[in-house]
Amino acid sequence: MPELPEVETVRRTLEQLVKGKEIERVSVTWPKIIKQPEEVEQFKDALVGQVIDHIGRRGKFLLIYTTDFALVSHLRMEGRYGLFAPDEQPDKHTHVIFYFTDGTQLRYRDVRKFGTMHLFKKGEELNALPLSQLGPEPFSEEFTVKRMKEMLAKTNRSIKTVLLDQKLVVGLGNIYVDESLFKAGIHPERAANSLSQKELVTLHAEIVKTLEEAVEKGGSTVRSYVNTQGEIGMFQLELYVYGRKGEECKVCSSELERIVVGGRGTVFCPKCQKSKKASKIKK
Ligand SMILES: [Zn+2]
Repeated sequence: MPELPEVETVRRTLEQLVKGKEIERVSVTWPKIIKQPEEVEQFKDALVGQVIDHIGRRGKFLLIYTTDFALVSHLRMEGRYGLFAPDEQPDKHTHVIFYFTDGTQLRYRDVRKFGTMHLFKKGEELNALPLSQLGPEPFSEEFTVKRMKEMLAKTNRSIKTVLLDQKLVVGLGNIYVDESLFKAGIHPERAANSLSQKELVTLHAEIVKTLEEAVEKGGSTVRSYVNTQGEIGMFQLELYVYGRKGEECKVCSSELERIVVGGRGTVFCPKCQKSKKASKIKK
């Protein structure tokens, strides 16, 4: 599932590809993707004649702004956007097509069909679901150690579960939660309210740094995301723990372990991320 850095990369790429284009018509072959308005016909009709103004992002959501509307799009597991010439046939996994007046087509392809689209009048998108419940952006001034501390103090759920739920901070998924917790030296099953002030400061910094680095890396290689079909894909960073079960920790050479936390596969280093407060590290 794309997390903040991947969605940000898609945002930048998509903006270069479709900004200023006018929508002539829209086709939808899998109506369940369209969550708002309820009637797919309304969705299609509203977008006729609309010009793409810019592409925004909120957490892991893409926001396609047109003359009058904001299209809130979540890619979920497999959603992809791509710009195509009309002579290329769409495959069976293409479910929404935006036909532009210049002849090109923005296609939304989604093998597992879990993606969602909500269309709002511009200005209403942030105050309605799915965006209204989201926590602060990680690079914003609202995401502070103080706010983190106040929110975490209220729950004894595992720190990993809290980081995934998009209320403390948006944008983290399984990859970047595991990576941030590793770099902060915090065991993923630690109760959220058991973190020390020092751990909070470190975790906050590592979350921001991890996401920043990934955005930078994505941003610098935007071109490579557009493959021959014009499809915008994902990139793979060098990771410390995610997907590395059984391999050596890059810091201490211990064998990385996999557990399930809140239903999610989780890889961690048993030495670098001790389950109890690591008194040995205390200075
Ligand atoms: Zn280690």
